[in-house]
Amino acid sequence: MKATPHADTLQQRDSEFIWHPYSAVGAGATAVPVVSASGVKLRLADGRELIDGMASWWCVIHGYNHPRLNAAISQQLDAMAHVMFGGITHPPAVALAERLVDITPAGLDLVFFADSGSVAVEVALKMAIQYWRSRDLSAKSRFIALRNGYHGDTLHAMSVCDPVTGMHTLFNDVLPQQLFVPPPGGPIDAPADPVDIEAMRTMLHKHAHEVAAVILEPIVQGAGGMRFYSADYLRHVRALCDEFEVLLIADEIATGFGRTGKLFACEHADITPDILCLGKSLTGGYMTLAATLTRRTIGEAISAGEPGVFMHGPTFMANPLACAVSLASIDLLLESPWQSRIAAIQSGLAEGLAPCASMPHVADVRVLGAIGVVELAAPVDMPTVQPLFVEAGVWVRPFGKLVYLMPPFVMSANDLATLTAAVVKVVGRLQIEGDRCTTAATA
Ligand SMILES: *Cc1c(COP(=O)(O)O)cnc(C)c1O
Repeated sequence: MKATPHADTLQQRDSEFIWHPYSAVGAGATAVPVVSASGVKLRLADGRELIDGMASWWCVIHGYNHPRLNAAISQQLDAMAHVMFGGITHPPAVALAERLVDITPAGLDLVFFADSGSVAVEVALKMAIQYWRSRDLSAKSRFIALRNGYHGDTLHAMSVCDPVTGMHTLFNDVLPQQLFVPPPGGPIDAPADPVDIEAMRTMLHKHAHEVAAVILEPIVQGAGGMRFYSADYLRHVRALCDEFEVLLIADEIATGFGRTGKLFACEHADITPDILCLGKSLTGGYMTLAATLTRRTIGEAISAGEPGVFMHGPTFMANPLACAVSLASIDLLLESPWQSRIAAIQSGLAEGLAPCASMPHVADVRVLGAIGVVELAAPVDMPTVQPLFVEAGVWVRPFGKLVYLMPPFVMSANDLATLTAAVVKVVGRLQIEGDRCTTAATA
């Protein structure tokens, strides 16, 4: 057995050669070394354990190192790790596609596998564009998106992200110019604000001739602001898309598989999009896989147009290991009492985070399903705040003004209480200094 490298050494070796997500080169050796994980805990190189409040960016819904998911991968590994998908099929891909068609909103009956969320969004956008081209309406190639949205980091996906947090100014000359409507308001069971519906109607009225689709994250806007909005709004957008002959793309990469309390967030509004993107927790957080689902009629229309095929095919499309673990993850989810677990997490988050609401530097506290958000009045100063969470024994990774939790669904009430107490403690130590939320001591 190899010796576990000393934490500092690993951090330093990391900082010498590796770029981390959304990070600067030369920002110092700050990456926290994790050597193993099981259940809801991450184990650090120095032996400490952290309760994971992030589910590794929404993915790890059943916890780490789950025996059923491990077994699914091992079994598939014995059969084959990978085989190309061009001209070939295999049992896990077929079984997973059947399963996805079965559990997603009625009417989505065609599955295109992709290798990450951003790619699933690219595929969705290309499908929408190619659909209208095949119907001789090539002018319909732009997209309407909601402000505060997030759809991935590749260029076309970025073009439909929020223009400010998506840093459109930086890429202005290379990004396709899309159309944006104001983000709708909440709460989710409130009637849609007529102003929001009117904004979408006006946009469609003016631009439908050049618009391929409306793309949105149903009910929960994730990385673009962690906002929740009215299900009634979503119902209206569905109707407007039909009225103006524009497709509706629902990006459920973050919300799919139970996170909001429904299996898919579209169910809150009882709608079926024309194209649906899945990813993140699809594999239970074991590896990368995504899927873009659509209606058979859309697939047939694309196939009837020029060049007679859909022009996409990633090398690792429908990777067998990823499909096998996805199937096992979906089984595990549906066999579990997931609704009551998520309801319990929702009340645990609401109760546990409530003390933050009265803090002077906290703008809002909101909870939906297994998502808890503390929005601060100013962005978190990450270099000072990130270590405080680690010292408190939890893994919480804020971004901007948002300190948020999306725990694995299997988290016990005790662990959840420890997690929320740590957030209350750390947020309680912060204050606004200049334009940041930081600790009094280091200011
Ligand atoms: C994470 C995310 C993506 C991008 O997925 P990647 O796998 O990171 O490329 C797209 N849309 C939404 C809503 C997401 O949350």
